Amino acid sequence: MDHFNYKDGVLCAEDVPLTRIAAEVGTPVYVYSAATLTRHFNVFQEALEWAPDHLICYAVKANSNIAVLKLLGDLGAGMDVVSIGEYARARTAGVPGERIVFSGVGKTRKEMRLALEGGIRQFNVESEPELLALSEVAASLGVKAPIAIRVNPDVDAKTHEKIATGKSENKFGIPIARAREVYAAAASLPGIEVVGIDMHIGSQLTDLDPYRQAYAKMADLARALRADGHNIRRLDMGGGLGIPYRRDNNAPPLPIEYGQVIREAVGDLDCEIEIEPGRNIAGNAGLLLSEVIYVKRGEGRDFLILDAAMNDLIRPAMYGAHHDIVPVIESAPGTPVSAYDVVGPICESGDTFQKGTQLPPPAPGDLIAFRSAGAYGAVMSSEYNSRPLVPEVLVDGDRFAVIRPRPTLEDMLSREALPDWF
Ligand SMILES: *Cc1c(COP(=O)(O)O)cnc(C)c1O
Repeated sequence: MDHFNYKDGVLCAEDVPLTRIAAEVGTPVYVYSAATLTRHFNVFQEALEWAPDHLICYAVKANSNIAVLKLLGDLGAGMDVVSIGEYARARTAGVPGERIVFSGVGKTRKEMRLALEGGIRQFNVESEPELLALSEVAASLGVKAPIAIRVNPDVDAKTHEKIATGKSENKFGIPIARAREVYAAAASLPGIEVVGIDMHIGSQLTDLDPYRQAYAKMADLARALRADGHNIRRLDMGGGLGIPYRRDNNAPPLPIEYGQVIREAVGDLDCEIEIEPGRNIAGNAGLLLSEVIYVKRGEGRDFLILDAAMNDLIRPAMYGAHHDIVPVIESAPGTPVSAYDVVGPICESGDTFQKGTQLPPPAPGDLIAFRSAGAYGAVMSSEYNSRPLVPEVLVDGDRFAVIRPRPTLEDMLSREALPDWF
């Protein structure tokens, strides 16, 4: 559920008409709903109510705007970060180090040191070389790094191949068959303190079965590791629960059902439970607002040329992803629709958002919105074709604020420098 609805024929973010944001901030622009972010976070809190000790570590990479992080952090969220840049964002948003977990296959020693110095809840370690490096860095600082080892359960998450992470051929984690051996090695290292187990099998999962399979393996491993003498007290179940990208489709399982799957698998182990949802919290809490520049008649098809492009929202070009495209001004019931290929102005054919979209005939200057664009939207944007980075707006009730301004051309150009021999 989200808080983007038509009121008096105009699509609104909570109580703010999108026409107002377009007029004041310009387009293209990302618009997020604070009420929706809050609601999604609270739904996960309810889903884990059975676990007295749990922490929802929002996956910062889904939407890393500091205002979004602060909103979630103030609700009690922890953060899952995958770079020292994301760590710095979380800290800037006021999230204490004890609520931040550090994931990712390629943490550098510098990142490890800065996180250890700044305060960290746990590192999710993905390889033996990383374990050794972390032990050395921690020992050099005279501390022990709390760790979970990310275990690769070799489970098919049944999602897009670019975002599946739990199969043995993927680069993530340590093969589960070797986990006991690696935990034994970890326990013997001077700079390491084993605290738990971590898994993350992929993103945009629309079926709970892969989770069931993976978490059953995690429960078995937890028992085996305890029998080996490790103090396994924390289980990080990862993120990945999918969202409905199409209004007319079967919805993916609900967080409450997902919470029960976790409970059934590991509820009897008396562990602290962590989850790392990203998309499910931010995805349907945002949309990308854009203006029609031209309607162009082609050979056997019509093109809707927008002022948003693949540099602003890359998911369709990168994953073949679908975002519902809706007009901001609701058309009267019964208005005839036509098919359009919806494209951006960028100089490649990959800059196509959708083909054959049925819309009431639009005119230049009309506003449209891409729904479900709050996650993996602005964070993946670039300045390709020298289009200044798309701005972001946060709505809360009847007020809104620009939380990342659109850079001016001067801002964009002034970041570069000529060599001194020119
Ligand atoms: C990307 C990622 C997540 C979040 O995935 P979502 O599909 O956005 O929920 C969580 N944990 C790790 C380790 C990730 O890489």
